[in-house]
Amino acid sequence: MFIDTKFFKKQLDEEKQKLEGELETVAKRNPDQPKDWNATYPDMNIMAADKEEVADQEEEYENRASFELELESRLRDINDALVRVETGKFGKCTVGGENIDEARLRANPAAATCIKHAG
Ligand SMILES: [Zn+2]
Repeated sequence: MFIDTKFFKKQLDEEKQKLEGELETVAKRNPDQPKDWNATYPDMNIMAADKEEVADQEEEYENRASFELELESRLRDINDALVRVETGKFGKCTVGGENIDEARLRANPAAATCIKHAG
C-alpha cells in the first residue's frame, strides 16, 4: 500500500503550527525544554482583587492548565508522527509494524498504531 507521506506531513505541519499558536495564548515555552510548555497565569490585577476575583482567577488558571495539557499532549503526538515521517516509519504501526489503514491516518495523521493495536 502506498502512503502519500507528503500529504500527511503537510497536515501534521499545519496542525503543529495551529497547536503552537493556541498554546501561546495560554502558556509559555519552558526556556530549558523547548518542547515543554507551562500554563501562564491569567492577566488580572491581583493587587486589586477581592476574594471572588481571586477565586475566578484560580478557576481560569485551572482551565488554562488543563487546556494546556491537552494541547501539549496532542502536540507531542504530532511531533512523534513527524519524527516517523523523517525516519521513513510513517504509516507503520509502532506496536506490530504493519501498515496503518489510510482511512485511519486521514482521520488522524498522528495515529501511531493500527486499529488492532489502538488504545
Ligand atoms: Zn498494529
